[in-house]
Amino acid sequence: MRDDEWLKEKLEQIWVSFFPDVKRGNRVVIKFKGRSRDRFGYIKKVNENTLIVINSLFRDERVPDFIIYNTIVHELVHYMHGFQSPLERRFEHPHRGGIVDRELRKRGFDSLLKKEKEWAKNEWGELYKEMTYQERKENSFFNRFI
Ligand SMILES: [Zn+2]
Repeated sequence: MRDDEWLKEKLEQIWVSFFPDVKRGNRVVIKFKGRSRDRFGYIKKVNENTLIVINSLFRDERVPDFIIYNTIVHELVHYMHGFQSPLERRFEHPHRGGIVDRELRKRGFDSLLKKEKEWAKNEWGELYKEMTYQERKENSFFNRFI
């Protein structure tokens, strides 16, 4: 079952296996939140801690594991670059110049990146519609009375 505990385990495994050189400068909390079509995840400093948020629609098993892994490693690269983390800031902007993907390729995630982009382009739109159909229907129902 994909819950916050499962996410925490994945983050630990990924950090130990693929980012062993990246120092843990503070407590990093990870959880599912939000139901966005366009935002797979984000990272945010909250007081002394860092929070990594993964789209809660990804709890659905129709979303492949590798999408969640890709989102986690993406946010971890921001962390290592000093964005929303206590580590030294290495760049001025979090994405400019493709620095995240470049770092991920360096760490061997080339095919993961490709798979993620294909899935986002070819599968996610339809799946998102299916997953949010009911609530969109309810919203439009209510909208008629406003
Ligand atoms: Zn990013």
